[in-house]
Amino acid sequence: MADKWMPREKWEALVRGDNCPLCAEVKSTQPVNEFGYTVTDLSFSRLRLCTNQSIKGYCVLICHKHVREPYELPGDERDMFFEDMMRAGLALEYVFRSDKMNFQILGNAVPHLHAHIEPRYLGDPAPHRPIHSGEKTVLLKPEEYQDLIKQIRSALDIVKTG
Ligand SMILES: [Zn+2]
Repeated sequence: MADKWMPREKWEALVRGDNCPLCAEVKSTQPVNEFGYTVTDLSFSRLRLCTNQSIKGYCVLICHKHVREPYELPGDERDMFFEDMMRAGLALEYVFRSDKMNFQILGNAVPHLHAHIEPRYLGDPAPHRPIHSGEKTVLLKPEEYQDLIKQIRSALDIVKTG
């Protein structure tokens, strides 16, 4: 990813939702694309398992609605989004037996509310900072993604937040 901000007019168009790739992704009926696999739709978001599994269990949770920041959502929708995020994190801990869960809401490249949910493991290469999935690429076999998706879906049914 280029290490500079996009031109302002492109940014403002994306903030408005013009040609927003994440709007397309939450509406898509195709479960698989180059970036990931749809696990499921939760109350107010879509959970996707990332194709690059350099961080074991790395998922992205995309808000069903196009907003730039979570505080732009009405309270009930914001509550649903954050509850989805907690449920997804807990399910990932259950499946991957991670030691810590990182939730990153960034959106500097695509200003459509989404959270990177990254299970962290003792001994991983970034103990005191956010981990960057792009530093290397780990691809699984198609059936391995499907197996993980099945496990995450089951865990989502089991886990109880709060
Ligand atoms: Zn969008």
